[in-house]
Amino acid sequence: MKLSLVVPCYNEAENVAAFQDAVIAAFDGCGYDYELVFINDGSTDATLHNLKKLHAAQKCPTKVISFSRNFGKEAGIYAGLQHARGEYICLIDADLQQRPEVVRQMVEILDLEPEYDVVAAFQERRRENRILSFFKKSFYCVINRLSKVTLRSDASDFRTFRRSVRDSILELAEYHRFSKGIFAWVGFSTKFIPYTVCRRASGATKWGFKKLMNYAIEGIIAYSTAPLRLATILGGISSVASAVYLIAVILEKLFRGIDVPGYATQTVLILFFGSAQLLCLGIIGEYVGKIFEQSKHRPIYIAKEILDYEQETKEEKRG
Ligand code: UDP
Ligand code: MG
Repeated sequence: MKLSLVVPCYNEAENVAAFQDAVIAAFDGCGYDYELVFINDGSTDATLHNLKKLHAAQKCPTKVISFSRNFGKEAGIYAGLQHARGEYICLIDADLQQRPEVVRQMVEILDLEPEYDVVAAFQERRRENRILSFFKKSFYCVINRLSKVTLRSDASDFRTFRRSVRDSILELAEYHRFSKGIFAWVGFSTKFIPYTVCRRASGATKWGFKKLMNYAIEGIIAYSTAPLRLATILGGISSVASAVYLIAVILEKLFRGIDVPGYATQTVLILFFGSAQLLCLGIIGEYVGKIFEQSKHRPIYIAKEILDYEQETKEEKRG
């Protein structure tokens, strides 16, 4: 098998068939075999029903992994990579915002340029409102300053890579998965090619502002311990400042005698130190929470049903 297309789907009932048709049209006459690995990420609409129809028809080798609930796109990607048989693996969305024609181009690059292991697409123009763009830019600015890996702000997880890259990604079995960080962390030589994001074929994006915010915080926590350092620095600065203030108070007492105690100063100090301590506790809590969840060693996803094209098996799988 030359190529596996890993397609996470969450409530994409209207898109999956159109997506498959677009792939078949794009790869017509390509001269190599490819498979589709759909992951039904706990959809609540007819996505699974429609995927089963695609699986039954087998217009091209089609596999369906259906989760027991919504585990998130990252878990979907992980499951898809585990089940991908191809020599090359491509991550692509089901909503046709990323065109299968570009995948064909990526495969050609991997064939012709053996020095590259990954071909990733970056967005030439973002179809987003300015506020969202501003927040995204700020996020990349922060994470690139804080963490040791460098993330490209315009690169998406739309990419095609060799099997060795897939194996390395699967070795990182962390529970909180942040793909962009994982790609940057595993390294490998990457070629970036420009692409224009199309409009969603049908339905709406699943990434609301709150979900994106959570994703951004997860990314920073997963790829940097700099916030913990911030807590140490804050603690250091406030200790020095309070030592200086202590000396000033003692000197004042010795040489001038204390007149009326400063109510405002005390209130400000209590509030300042109180909030600094809470902030630091919060930061530490974020990390402790992640350690707690990872220490439970829960599977990244639970597959309720797997429909393969080679052997007609239905089994339960945890990954
Ligand atoms: N997706 C998923 N699980 C989720 C959310 C999204 O598998 O919990 C899939 C979704 O079906 C789509 C891809 O991830 O194929 C990208 O999602 P979306 O189009 O909503 O994101 P956007 O393109 O707006 O960034
Ligand atoms: Mg989309």
